Amino acid sequence: MPVSQRYWCEFAWIDGQVRADVWLTVDGGRFTEVTLDAAPDGIRLYGLTLPGLANAHSHAFHRALRGRVEPGHESGSFWTWRDAMYGVADSLDPDTYFALARAVYAEMALAGVTCVGEFHYLHHGPGGTPYDDPNAMGAALMSAAAEAGIRITLLDTCYLTSTVDGQPLRGPQRRFGDGSAAGWAERVSAVRPAGPGALIGAAVHSVRAVPDAELPVVMEWAAGKPVHVHVSEQPAENKASLVHYGRTPTAVLADAGVLGPTTTAVHATHLTDADRAALGDSGTAVCLCPTTERDLADGLGPAAALADAGSPLCLGSDSHAVIDLFEEARGMELHERLRTGHRGLFPAAALVRAATIGGHAALGWSDAGTIAPGARADLVTVALDSVRTTGCRPPEAVFAATAADVRHVLVDGRPVVRDGVHQLVPDVARALGDAIAAVLP
Ligand SMILES: [Zn+2]
Repeated sequence: MPVSQRYWCEFAWIDGQVRADVWLTVDGGRFTEVTLDAAPDGIRLYGLTLPGLANAHSHAFHRALRGRVEPGHESGSFWTWRDAMYGVADSLDPDTYFALARAVYAEMALAGVTCVGEFHYLHHGPGGTPYDDPNAMGAALMSAAAEAGIRITLLDTCYLTSTVDGQPLRGPQRRFGDGSAAGWAERVSAVRPAGPGALIGAAVHSVRAVPDAELPVVMEWAAGKPVHVHVSEQPAENKASLVHYGRTPTAVLADAGVLGPTTTAVHATHLTDADRAALGDSGTAVCLCPTTERDLADGLGPAAALADAGSPLCLGSDSHAVIDLFEEARGMELHERLRTGHRGLFPAAALVRAATIGGHAALGWSDAGTIAPGARADLVTVALDSVRTTGCRPPEAVFAATAADVRHVLVDGRPVVRDGVHQLVPDVARALGDAIAAVLP
């Protein structure tokens, strides 16, 4: 890494707005200087340069299902898709998962993602037998992110039961479980971050998969680390929770002490007014995954109401039906338009905030997601001269740009993508194709 590097941005996203002619000095992986109204000097970045994008919710292996589980003439649902997903889960081992995740994270880098939150529950071998290293799968994911040049927060997931009323894990689900939250805590205590680009956090799969009495054990282990949890993605989850606990999933989590400013509720699609207030009042973040929610027929979540209630928002590509944070970001606004019949609930600055600083904060990287002195030097330059973006006013380009418009990506000061080409993984499409063929012939 050069000692000091200077970049000139035609347009850059600074303090929530677009500024022209910006100099950035990068030293030791961080921005040391930001100068406005500067003449071109150093490496020239034409287009709109954004802070690094954070993909706050990923299950890397779901990428293998893209374009293979469309129901065609048969009726499908979230639950039929889930059966196919379990089939992929059951075919992976640490070597094949490393190859798949490396390619998926490289696809993310090409899309401008500088940090991923991996909600990781595929821990054990077939039948639930631990590997010699019981954290071999998590280690494979962290190595994959390092090789793809992006940071990772490994959200090691507690997953204990197959139903809200405590039925045991079945079939491929047995690979996810640690028997009890204490067993989970013992295993995850041995996980070590693989280098400076990795953090360890915790996750509760859902109230369906972790009984309420076990939740405080997870929170005690997490002790201030990021905690993520799927919440009310499907109406069936709410129904089962109401039958068993007499309370919504959000209320169960609130009563067990799971909510708070270091917690992120993923999806939060089917909520009551009281649920939204509990999330907002506690400062719990919400991770929206609009492309997955539409792909899996989850429903339209109350994004604007959640923001109004006080929940910081972030974004994730979750099942990777597509990997495109611009599509996720505008999905926040466009889904609200469909739901409410109004335009303009989330301006461009709110979309960029969710995709950058919001996601990094939810993943425990409080020093990333902005272009400012002292922040991690993550940059994503988006072309403003492509067929999709030409003619756009720069701030509104986020309503038109796609992952294909990402030209350059810098992660912690290191160039990972140049002119649309990944600098560490030579042929990302081929790497993806080979890795998927190895698990889904
Ligand atoms: Zn998920």
